[in-house]
Amino acid sequence: MVCWLFTLLNACHTDVQLCSKVFALVIFARRPLRLEELTEAIWCLESEPHNKLQQKAKPNVNSIRTIVQPFIEFINTNKTDDSSAEEQYTCRVLHSTLRDFLVDHPNILCDNSSDLRISAEWPARACLRYLGQSRYSGLLVRREGRWLDVTEDPVDCHPLLVYAAKYWDKHLDDVTVTDSGSVESFITSPNFRTCVQVQSLWVEAQFAFFSRPDEGDGFNTYVRRVFPSWFARAQNGPGQRLWTDYRRFLHEWIYFLSCEQCGGEKTCEILPYVGQLDRMWFGALGPNNFLSRLESRCTSFAFQTDADSDEMRYVFDAVSETGDEIMILRIQSVNMFLYHMHLIAEVDL
Ligand SMILES: [Zn+2]
Repeated sequence: MVCWLFTLLNACHTDVQLCSKVFALVIFARRPLRLEELTEAIWCLESEPHNKLQQKAKPNVNSIRTIVQPFIEFINTNKTDDSSAEEQYTCRVLHSTLRDFLVDHPNILCDNSSDLRISAEWPARACLRYLGQSRYSGLLVRREGRWLDVTEDPVDCHPLLVYAAKYWDKHLDDVTVTDSGSVESFITSPNFRTCVQVQSLWVEAQFAFFSRPDEGDGFNTYVRRVFPSWFARAQNGPGQRLWTDYRRFLHEWIYFLSCEQCGGEKTCEILPYVGQLDRMWFGALGPNNFLSRLESRCTSFAFQTDADSDEMRYVFDAVSETGDEIMILRIQSVNMFLYHMHLIAEVDL
């Protein structure tokens, strides 16, 4: 190791920078990365944010493999084929003690220079930047059995997309971020809707319900958190409001997003429309919900009053059989001890 470090420290700055990124991506990965995912993550980090990946920034796979071997192994998972296809190789740290050492010594390749530190920020930044690319600013569209991005490029050729959609918030959990602006701008951008679409299509159990016994005889039901925990729980900033808005959206649409749970049964009524998030009625979430700005096929809106929605404990509505009347029942306050309940019923034509 010392000998390798000596060689590396005498190498050019670009090589050391590449090395620190590769180590960071591999040791902080939430599951073993395939070589093609690692290469794509490096490519993304070397490209300008928000644009598509730049050809001139594409890393050379052989340089990646050479610079970190033997400390990172590239395991061929397809024993019957020893061709050099990147998707066949999985990256693994040589030994767990090496991983522990690098986690404890993030500055081993530098003297506190942030772009050379082996830090959990690299995978977090790679995921956020990857999902923030302009090619995901619109929903993916299915054509002839393949899903295409806005540039009509098939996304099955985008190796990091599903990993980034699944783990972006988990990687951000590992990072102490003082600037939450980049997370906020991603969540409130149209790219976030594409991220939800990818999760709905390819991330197993992303929108499943989980239950745990509560203190009584019942169960508490949970859904997966999708924002970084420090962002959703921050006392200041927009995190809590965005998280509440997102939960309202899930409350309305989780069954549409979790169609994969049905196992693709032919009788499922959602299955033909899976992934078509433009069918959702974003406008009906109400103008205060950040997701209502997203475009839908149908124009929709919310029935609501000027009253503060936080004061409403329960709201029920029903549409008449003829479809030209709607009744809304709002329960403004409930005091179980005084048996006092204030009900307001409204009829709108
Ligand atoms: Zn289904």
